[in-house]
Amino acid sequence: MIVAVPKEIKTREYRVGLTPAGVRTLVEDGHRVLVQAGAGLGSGIPDQAYQAAGAELREAAREIYASGELIVKVKEPAAAEYELLRGGQLLFTYLHLAPAPELTRLLLEREVAGIAYETVQLDSGHLPLLHPMSEVAGRMSVQVGAYYLQKENGGKGVLLGGAPGVRAARVVILGAGTAGGNAMRIAVGMGADVSVLDIDPTRLAYWDEHYGNRIQTLMSNSQNIEDEVCRADLLIGAVLVAGARAPMLVSRELVGRMAPGSVIVDIAVDQGGCVETIHPTTHDHPVFMVDEVVHYGVANMPGAVSNTSTFALTNSTLPYVRRIAGFGLSRAAKADEALRKGVNTYKGTLCNELVARALNLEY
Ligand code: NAD
Repeated sequence: MIVAVPKEIKTREYRVGLTPAGVRTLVEDGHRVLVQAGAGLGSGIPDQAYQAAGAELREAAREIYASGELIVKVKEPAAAEYELLRGGQLLFTYLHLAPAPELTRLLLEREVAGIAYETVQLDSGHLPLLHPMSEVAGRMSVQVGAYYLQKENGGKGVLLGGAPGVRAARVVILGAGTAGGNAMRIAVGMGADVSVLDIDPTRLAYWDEHYGNRIQTLMSNSQNIEDEVCRADLLIGAVLVAGARAPMLVSRELVGRMAPGSVIVDIAVDQGGCVETIHPTTHDHPVFMVDEVVHYGVANMPGAVSNTSTFALTNSTLPYVRRIAGFGLSRAAKADEALRKGVNTYKGTLCNELVARALNLEY
Protein backbone atom coordinates (compact mmCIF):
# COMPACT_ATOMS: atom_id res chain seq x y z
CA MET A 1 0.00 0.00 0.00
CA ILE A 2 1.11 3.61 -0.45
CA VAL A 3 1.16 5.29 2.97
CA ALA A 4 1.39 9.08 2.84
CA VAL A 5 2.17 11.63 5.53
CA PRO A 6 1.26 15.29 4.91
CA LYS A 7 2.63 18.25 6.84
CA GLU A 8 0.10 19.43 9.43
CA ILE A 9 -1.32 22.86 8.60
CA LYS A 10 -3.45 23.60 11.66
CA THR A 11 -2.15 26.67 13.51
CA ARG A 12 0.57 25.76 15.99
CA GLU A 13 0.32 22.03 15.26
CA TYR A 14 3.91 20.83 15.16
CA ARG A 15 3.38 17.10 15.44
CA VAL A 16 3.62 14.71 12.48
CA GLY A 17 1.84 11.42 11.73
CA LEU A 18 4.88 9.11 11.50
CA THR A 19 8.46 9.09 12.83
CA PRO A 20 11.39 7.86 10.70
CA ALA A 21 11.38 4.59 12.71
CA GLY A 22 7.71 4.16 11.77
CA VAL A 23 8.55 4.80 8.12
CA ARG A 24 11.33 2.23 8.25
CA THR A 25 9.03 -0.41 9.74
CA LEU A 26 6.44 0.17 7.01
CA VAL A 27 9.07 0.06 4.26
CA GLU A 28 10.41 -3.20 5.74
CA ASP A 29 6.81 -4.49 5.60
CA GLY A 30 6.92 -3.87 1.85
CA HIS A 31 4.96 -0.59 1.60
CA ARG A 32 5.84 2.67 -0.12
CA VAL A 33 5.85 5.68 2.22
CA LEU A 34 5.54 9.25 0.93
CA VAL A 35 6.34 12.13 3.30
CA GLN A 36 5.75 15.80 2.54
CA ALA A 37 8.96 17.83 2.67
CA GLY A 38 9.25 19.64 5.98
CA ALA A 39 6.52 17.52 7.65
CA GLY A 40 8.76 16.58 10.57
CA LEU A 41 10.51 19.90 11.12
CA GLY A 42 8.09 21.04 13.85
CA SER A 43 9.02 17.91 15.79
CA GLY A 44 12.73 18.36 15.15
CA ILE A 45 12.86 15.63 12.48
CA PRO A 46 14.66 16.63 9.26
CA ASP A 47 13.67 15.40 5.79
CA GLN A 48 16.95 13.49 5.51
CA ALA A 49 15.95 11.29 8.47
CA TYR A 50 12.81 10.24 6.60
CA GLN A 51 14.78 9.63 3.41
CA ALA A 52 17.33 7.54 5.29
CA ALA A 53 14.42 5.46 6.63
CA GLY A 54 13.22 4.78 3.09
CA ALA A 55 10.57 7.47 2.58
CA GLU A 56 10.05 9.27 -0.73
CA LEU A 57 9.79 13.03 -0.26
CA ARG A 58 7.11 15.09 -2.01
CA GLU A 59 7.08 18.89 -2.06
CA ALA A 60 3.36 19.60 -2.19
CA ALA A 61 0.42 18.37 -0.12
CA ARG A 62 -1.42 17.90 -3.42
CA GLU A 63 1.08 15.19 -4.45
CA ILE A 64 0.75 13.46 -1.08
CA TYR A 65 -3.03 13.28 -1.29
CA ALA A 66 -3.03 12.40 -5.00
CA SER A 67 -0.84 9.30 -4.52
CA GLY A 68 -1.50 8.20 -0.93
CA GLU A 69 -3.86 5.28 -0.39
CA LEU A 70 -3.59 5.54 3.40
CA ILE A 71 -3.12 9.09 4.75
CA VAL A 72 -1.63 9.15 8.26
CA LYS A 73 -2.07 12.49 10.01
CA VAL A 74 -2.37 14.01 13.47
CA LYS A 75 -5.28 16.50 13.30
CA GLU A 76 -8.55 16.46 11.40
CA PRO A 77 -8.23 17.84 7.85
CA ALA A 78 -8.43 21.64 7.68
CA ALA A 79 -10.66 23.36 5.12
CA ALA A 80 -7.71 23.78 2.72
CA GLU A 81 -7.25 19.99 2.70
CA TYR A 82 -10.89 19.12 1.96
CA GLU A 83 -10.53 19.35 -1.82
CA LEU A 84 -7.43 17.11 -1.72
CA LEU A 85 -9.21 14.08 -0.25
CA ARG A 86 -10.08 11.41 -2.80
CA GLY A 87 -12.80 8.78 -3.01
CA GLY A 88 -11.76 5.41 -1.57
CA GLN A 89 -8.86 6.93 0.36
CA LEU A 90 -8.19 5.80 3.94
CA LEU A 91 -7.65 8.60 6.45
CA PHE A 92 -6.20 7.70 9.89
CA THR A 93 -6.00 10.65 12.29
CA TYR A 94 -7.69 12.41 15.25
CA LEU A 95 -11.00 13.27 13.56
CA HIS A 96 -13.45 14.56 16.22
CA LEU A 97 -16.41 14.39 13.84
CA ALA A 98 -19.15 14.96 16.45
CA PRO A 99 -18.81 18.77 16.33
CA ALA A 100 -17.83 18.80 12.60
CA PRO A 101 -20.87 18.40 10.30
CA GLU A 102 -19.13 19.84 7.22
CA LEU A 103 -16.15 17.46 7.41
CA THR A 104 -18.43 14.50 8.15
CA ARG A 105 -20.56 15.28 5.09
CA LEU A 106 -17.44 15.58 2.95
CA LEU A 107 -16.04 12.20 4.07
CA LEU A 108 -19.41 10.59 3.37
CA GLU A 109 -19.89 12.22 -0.04
CA ARG A 110 -16.33 11.48 -1.19
CA GLU A 111 -16.52 7.97 0.28
CA VAL A 112 -13.34 8.51 2.28
CA ALA A 113 -12.83 5.94 5.07
CA GLY A 114 -12.29 8.08 8.16
CA ILE A 115 -10.63 6.13 10.98
CA ALA A 116 -10.50 8.25 14.14
CA TYR A 117 -7.69 7.76 16.66
CA GLU A 118 -9.98 8.88 19.47
CA THR A 119 -12.60 6.17 18.91
CA VAL A 120 -10.26 3.17 18.63
CA GLN A 121 -11.30 1.34 21.80
CA LEU A 122 -10.31 -1.93 23.47
CA ASP A 123 -12.90 -4.24 25.08
CA SER A 124 -11.85 -2.92 28.49
CA GLY A 125 -13.01 0.56 27.42
CA HIS A 126 -9.40 1.75 27.20
CA LEU A 127 -8.67 4.29 24.41
CA PRO A 128 -5.14 3.34 23.33
CA LEU A 129 -4.62 6.27 20.93
CA LEU A 130 -5.76 8.95 23.40
CA HIS A 131 -3.75 7.42 26.21
CA PRO A 132 -0.29 8.73 25.16
CA MET A 133 -1.56 12.31 24.91
CA SER A 134 -3.06 12.11 28.41
CA GLU A 135 0.30 10.84 29.65
CA VAL A 136 2.05 13.82 28.06
CA ALA A 137 -0.54 16.38 29.22
CA GLY A 138 -0.45 14.99 32.77
CA ARG A 139 3.33 15.27 33.01
CA MET A 140 3.29 18.70 31.41
CA SER A 141 0.60 20.05 33.76
CA VAL A 142 3.01 20.10 36.71
CA GLN A 143 5.76 21.68 34.62
CA VAL A 144 3.51 24.56 33.47
CA GLY A 145 2.02 24.85 36.94
CA ALA A 146 5.49 25.24 38.44
CA TYR A 147 6.28 27.92 35.84
CA TYR A 148 3.14 29.97 36.55
CA LEU A 149 3.66 29.72 40.30
CA GLN A 150 6.76 31.88 39.79
CA LYS A 151 6.21 35.49 40.82
CA GLU A 152 7.10 37.03 37.46
CA ASN A 153 4.53 34.79 35.77
CA GLY A 154 1.63 35.89 37.98
CA GLY A 155 2.02 33.21 40.65
CA LYS A 156 2.57 33.49 44.39
CA GLY A 157 6.30 32.87 44.09
CA VAL A 158 6.32 29.34 45.48
CA LEU A 159 8.79 26.61 44.48
CA LEU A 160 7.15 23.17 44.15
CA GLY A 161 9.86 21.40 46.12
CA GLY A 162 10.14 24.12 48.77
CA ALA A 163 13.60 24.50 50.33
CA PRO A 164 15.31 23.06 53.42
CA GLY A 165 13.34 24.49 56.34
CA VAL A 166 10.53 25.74 54.07
CA ARG A 167 7.39 23.79 53.25
CA ALA A 168 6.88 22.34 49.76
CA ALA A 169 4.06 23.60 47.54
CA ARG A 170 0.70 21.86 47.84
CA VAL A 171 -0.39 20.19 44.62
CA VAL A 172 -3.98 18.95 44.47
CA ILE A 173 -4.93 16.62 41.61
CA LEU A 174 -8.59 15.95 40.77
CA GLY A 175 -8.82 12.62 38.94
CA ALA A 176 -6.33 9.78 39.36
CA GLY A 177 -6.50 8.25 35.87
CA THR A 178 -3.90 8.50 33.11
CA ALA A 179 -3.36 12.28 33.16
CA GLY A 180 -3.73 12.50 36.95
CA GLY A 181 -1.35 9.59 37.54
CA ASN A 182 1.29 11.15 35.32
CA ALA A 183 0.85 14.55 37.02
CA MET A 184 1.31 12.77 40.35
CA ARG A 185 4.54 11.18 39.19
CA ILE A 186 6.11 14.52 38.24
CA ALA A 187 4.77 16.39 41.29
CA VAL A 188 6.18 13.73 43.62
CA GLY A 189 9.46 13.82 41.71
CA MET A 190 9.69 17.58 42.17
CA GLY A 191 9.20 17.21 45.90
CA ALA A 192 5.71 18.74 46.19
CA ASP A 193 3.16 17.95 48.89
CA VAL A 194 0.68 15.98 46.74
CA SER A 195 -2.93 15.00 47.32
CA VAL A 196 -5.08 13.14 44.81
CA LEU A 197 -8.87 12.82 44.70
CA ASP A 198 -10.95 10.32 42.71
CA ILE A 199 -14.38 8.72 42.97
CA ASP A 200 -12.94 5.29 42.13
CA PRO A 201 -11.59 3.60 45.30
CA THR A 202 -9.59 1.07 43.25
CA ARG A 203 -7.63 3.88 41.60
CA LEU A 204 -6.94 5.47 44.98
CA ALA A 205 -5.85 2.10 46.37
CA TYR A 206 -3.52 1.56 43.41
CA TRP A 207 -1.75 4.90 43.87
CA ASP A 208 -1.68 4.51 47.66
CA GLU A 209 0.05 1.16 47.20
CA HIS A 210 2.42 2.66 44.64
CA TYR A 211 3.52 5.82 46.43
CA GLY A 212 2.84 4.99 50.09
CA ASN A 213 2.99 8.07 52.29
CA ARG A 214 4.57 10.24 49.60
CA ILE A 215 1.03 11.20 48.50
CA GLN A 216 -2.35 11.63 50.17
CA THR A 217 -5.25 9.86 48.46
CA LEU A 218 -8.74 11.15 49.16
CA MET A 219 -12.26 10.25 48.07
CA SER A 220 -13.62 12.89 45.71
CA ASN A 221 -16.61 14.43 47.50
CA SER A 222 -17.64 18.03 48.01
CA GLN A 223 -16.16 18.24 51.53
CA ASN A 224 -12.73 16.91 50.55
CA ILE A 225 -12.69 18.99 47.35
CA GLU A 226 -13.46 22.15 49.34
CA ASP A 227 -10.79 21.44 51.95
CA GLU A 228 -8.11 20.58 49.39
CA VAL A 229 -8.83 23.33 46.85
CA CYS A 230 -8.71 26.05 49.53
CA ARG A 231 -5.21 24.95 50.57
CA ALA A 232 -3.83 24.26 47.06
CA ASP A 233 -0.94 26.19 45.56
CA LEU A 234 -1.39 24.27 42.31
CA LEU A 235 -4.73 22.68 41.41
CA ILE A 236 -4.77 20.21 38.50
CA GLY A 237 -8.05 19.10 36.90
CA ALA A 238 -7.69 15.63 35.32
CA VAL A 239 -11.14 14.06 35.53
CA LEU A 240 -12.98 12.25 32.77
CA VAL A 241 -16.39 10.66 32.49
CA ALA A 242 -16.13 8.85 29.13
CA GLY A 243 -18.38 10.31 26.48
CA ALA A 244 -19.72 13.06 28.74
CA ARG A 245 -18.90 16.61 29.69
CA ALA A 246 -16.38 16.82 32.54
CA PRO A 247 -18.13 17.02 35.94
CA MET A 248 -18.03 20.54 37.42
CA LEU A 249 -16.19 20.03 40.72
CA VAL A 250 -14.85 23.48 41.63
CA SER A 251 -17.31 26.37 41.79
CA ARG A 252 -16.51 29.99 41.14
CA GLU A 253 -17.06 30.65 44.84
CA LEU A 254 -14.43 28.05 45.74
CA VAL A 255 -11.91 29.56 43.30
CA GLY A 256 -12.48 32.87 45.10
CA ARG A 257 -11.33 31.21 48.33
CA MET A 258 -7.97 30.14 46.88
CA ALA A 259 -5.00 32.30 47.90
CA PRO A 260 -3.95 35.02 45.41
CA GLY A 261 -1.26 33.75 43.04
CA SER A 262 -2.44 30.13 43.19
CA VAL A 263 -2.51 28.32 39.85
CA ILE A 264 -5.16 26.14 38.20
CA VAL A 265 -4.23 23.86 35.28
CA ASP A 266 -7.44 22.24 34.05
CA ILE A 267 -6.35 19.48 31.68
CA ALA A 268 -10.00 18.43 31.31
CA VAL A 269 -10.78 21.75 29.61
CA ASP A 270 -11.13 19.87 26.30
CA GLN A 271 -14.23 18.20 27.79
CA GLY A 272 -15.58 21.45 29.24
CA GLY A 273 -13.30 21.55 32.29
CA CYS A 274 -13.97 20.69 35.93
CA VAL A 275 -13.51 24.25 37.24
CA GLU A 276 -16.36 26.72 36.74
CA THR A 277 -14.07 29.62 35.86
CA ILE A 278 -11.96 27.83 33.22
CA HIS A 279 -12.30 28.34 29.48
CA PRO A 280 -10.17 27.02 26.59
CA THR A 281 -7.00 29.00 25.84
CA THR A 282 -4.21 28.64 23.27
CA HIS A 283 -0.44 28.28 23.45
CA ASP A 284 -0.25 31.92 22.26
CA HIS A 285 -2.26 33.14 25.26
CA PRO A 286 -2.27 30.21 27.70
CA VAL A 287 -3.41 31.91 30.92
CA PHE A 288 -5.91 34.38 32.33
CA MET A 289 -6.69 35.60 35.86
CA VAL A 290 -9.91 35.20 37.83
CA ASP A 291 -9.95 36.45 41.44
CA GLU A 292 -6.13 36.73 41.32
CA VAL A 293 -5.86 32.98 40.55
CA VAL A 294 -3.90 32.02 37.41
CA HIS A 295 -5.97 29.83 35.05
CA TYR A 296 -4.26 27.68 32.39
CA GLY A 297 -6.73 26.15 29.92
CA VAL A 298 -4.80 25.05 26.84
CA ALA A 299 -6.86 22.37 25.11
CA ASN A 300 -3.99 20.83 23.10
CA MET A 301 -1.17 20.82 25.63
CA PRO A 302 0.87 18.02 23.92
CA GLY A 303 1.33 20.25 20.86
CA ALA A 304 3.85 22.32 22.82
CA VAL A 305 6.14 19.32 23.29
CA SER A 306 5.79 18.17 19.69
CA ASN A 307 8.93 16.06 19.60
CA THR A 308 7.95 13.94 22.61
CA SER A 309 4.31 13.83 21.52
CA THR A 310 5.08 12.74 17.95
CA PHE A 311 7.17 9.81 19.18
CA ALA A 312 4.60 8.87 21.85
CA LEU A 313 1.77 9.00 19.31
CA THR A 314 3.57 6.93 16.66
CA ASN A 315 4.47 4.29 19.24
CA SER A 316 0.73 3.76 19.72
CA THR A 317 -0.61 4.28 16.19
CA LEU A 318 2.02 2.28 14.25
CA PRO A 319 0.65 -1.21 15.08
CA TYR A 320 -2.73 -0.13 13.67
CA VAL A 321 -1.13 1.53 10.61
CA ARG A 322 0.72 -1.73 9.91
CA ARG A 323 -2.47 -3.76 10.16
CA ILE A 324 -4.46 -1.41 7.91
CA ALA A 325 -1.66 -1.22 5.34
CA GLY A 326 -0.95 -4.95 5.51
CA PHE A 327 -4.46 -6.40 5.32
CA GLY A 328 -6.54 -3.51 3.96
CA LEU A 329 -9.06 -1.75 6.17
CA SER A 330 -11.90 -4.18 5.67
CA ARG A 331 -9.95 -7.29 6.74
CA ALA A 332 -8.01 -5.47 9.46
CA ALA A 333 -11.19 -4.09 11.04
CA LYS A 334 -12.95 -7.47 10.88
CA ALA A 335 -10.05 -9.06 12.75
CA ASP A 336 -9.68 -6.27 15.32
CA GLU A 337 -12.75 -4.99 17.15
CA ALA A 338 -10.81 -2.03 18.62
CA LEU A 339 -9.86 -0.85 15.15
CA ARG A 340 -13.41 -1.41 13.87
CA LYS A 341 -14.63 1.02 16.53
CA GLY A 342 -12.21 3.54 15.08
CA VAL A 343 -13.93 3.49 11.69
CA ASN A 344 -16.27 6.51 11.62
CA THR A 345 -17.07 6.67 7.90
CA TYR A 346 -16.80 3.88 5.30
CA LYS A 347 -17.98 3.83 1.68
CA GLY A 348 -20.40 6.71 2.27
CA THR A 349 -21.88 5.25 5.48
CA LEU A 350 -21.59 6.74 8.95
CA CYS A 351 -20.41 3.97 11.30
CA ASN A 352 -20.17 5.71 14.69
CA GLU A 353 -23.32 5.96 16.75
CA LEU A 354 -22.20 8.88 18.94
CA VAL A 355 -21.22 10.96 15.91
CA ALA A 356 -24.53 10.13 14.23
CA ARG A 357 -26.45 11.18 17.33
CA ALA A 358 -24.46 14.40 17.75
CA LEU A 359 -25.06 15.39 14.13
CA ASN A 360 -28.59 14.03 13.86
CA LEU A 361 -27.59 11.81 10.96
CA GLU A 362 -28.54 8.26 10.01
CA TYR A 363 -26.32 5.54 11.43
P1 NAD B 1 -8.92 8.70 32.64
O1 NAD B 1 -10.23 8.06 32.30
O2 NAD B 1 -7.69 7.89 32.56
O3 NAD B 1 -9.00 9.32 34.12
C1 NAD B 1 -10.07 10.10 34.54
C2 NAD B 1 -10.27 9.89 36.03
O4 NAD B 1 -11.26 10.83 36.47
C3 NAD B 1 -10.77 8.49 36.41
O5 NAD B 1 -9.90 7.90 37.35
C4 NAD B 1 -12.14 8.76 37.01
O6 NAD B 1 -12.50 7.86 38.05
C5 NAD B 1 -11.96 10.18 37.53
N1 NAD B 1 -13.17 10.89 37.84
C6 NAD B 1 -14.37 10.89 37.21
N2 NAD B 1 -15.26 11.66 37.87
C7 NAD B 1 -14.60 12.18 38.95
C8 NAD B 1 -14.96 13.03 40.02
N3 NAD B 1 -16.20 13.52 40.13
N4 NAD B 1 -14.02 13.34 40.94
C9 NAD B 1 -12.76 12.86 40.85
N5 NAD B 1 -12.37 12.02 39.88
C10 NAD B 1 -13.26 11.69 38.93
O7 NAD B 1 -8.83 10.01 31.71
P2 NAD B 1 -7.49 10.72 31.21
O8 NAD B 1 -7.00 10.01 30.00
O9 NAD B 1 -6.60 10.90 32.38
O10 NAD B 1 -8.05 12.14 30.71
C11 NAD B 1 -8.37 13.18 31.63
C12 NAD B 1 -8.79 14.42 30.84
O11 NAD B 1 -7.65 15.00 30.19
C13 NAD B 1 -9.80 14.16 29.70
O12 NAD B 1 -10.76 15.17 29.69
C14 NAD B 1 -8.94 14.24 28.46
O13 NAD B 1 -9.69 14.57 27.31
C15 NAD B 1 -8.03 15.36 28.89
N6 NAD B 1 -6.84 15.60 28.05
C16 NAD B 1 -6.55 16.91 27.80
C17 NAD B 1 -5.42 17.25 27.09
C18 NAD B 1 -5.11 18.71 26.90
O14 NAD B 1 -4.24 19.02 26.09
N7 NAD B 1 -5.74 19.62 27.62
C19 NAD B 1 -4.59 16.26 26.58
C20 NAD B 1 -4.89 14.92 26.84
C21 NAD B 1 -6.03 14.60 27.59
